[in-house]
Amino acid sequence: MARVFFNKRTGRASEPWVTLCLAAAVMLTLLTARAGRAAQLPALADAAELFDVKTAAAEMRLGGYRVLPLLGDGDEKSALTDALLQYPDGFFEAIRTRTGGLTFLLCGGIRGERPGCRAAPSALTVSGSSGVTLVFDCSEGVSFYTVCHEVCHAADAALQVPDAEWAALQPPGFRFSGRYTDENGRPAEDGDDLSFTPQGEGEPYFVNAYAKTFPAEDRAVLFETLMRAGPGAGYLHSPHIIKKLAAYCALLRAGLDPDGRWEQPFWEARLCEVLKAQQACRP
Ligand SMILES: [Zn+2]
Repeated sequence: MARVFFNKRTGRASEPWVTLCLAAAVMLTLLTARAGRAAQLPALADAAELFDVKTAAAEMRLGGYRVLPLLGDGDEKSALTDALLQYPDGFFEAIRTRTGGLTFLLCGGIRGERPGCRAAPSALTVSGSSGVTLVFDCSEGVSFYTVCHEVCHAADAALQVPDAEWAALQPPGFRFSGRYTDENGRPAEDGDDLSFTPQGEGEPYFVNAYAKTFPAEDRAVLFETLMRAGPGAGYLHSPHIIKKLAAYCALLRAGLDPDGRWEQPFWEARLCEVLKAQQACRP
């Protein structure tokens, strides 16, 4: 059975300052040792073939969603491949090898067709027996952050992170909701339960309410937020959020680069910046 994850349209957060945890300091030491080595980007005139980027020429159905055709292509394909070129050599090959296939599909819209589906997500990742397909609605362009989010879902399909392992990083007794909408069909991010987010009660473990739907969404939102926010963002000061980010970075390393061939991927460089900034700000 296919597993389906998608990207919400919007998401903002502003949170209180929380002291950096000891685990983050340890991670900083580890990451700093790898800093200073610039990422190597392949010089490719057209990387679309390398990444198997396709355009939806006709309407199709994927994982309970209707995928609309994209009229014309060009800028969208360039924007996507530019984002994919930021990833280290071997990253996508590792996913392809472990999942059986990896395809990027550009389309003109995504529409949910089943109860529990989102009405019109900006992107969609479908994982099945033939591999992983990442679908991007190009009607409003392709954002680097959306690519980051969906690629996390593709990486998840390869990593198969045990739920119990991720559960150990959550608040005591917490359970993911396991659904994108409530019983009234309202999107998860519009729900009332903001506990353990920067806007609600309890120490922040989640960037927003959407991250509380599924473990895979928690990881994708964390990664997207790390890239979107930068070192100054308040919610990146939460020791629980930093701990989860560090754990996820370690999972990517262990699962997709077992031979240690990567230099410093862009996400590790960003996490290093965040941790350095917080150390500098400590009283
Ligand atoms: Zn998602």
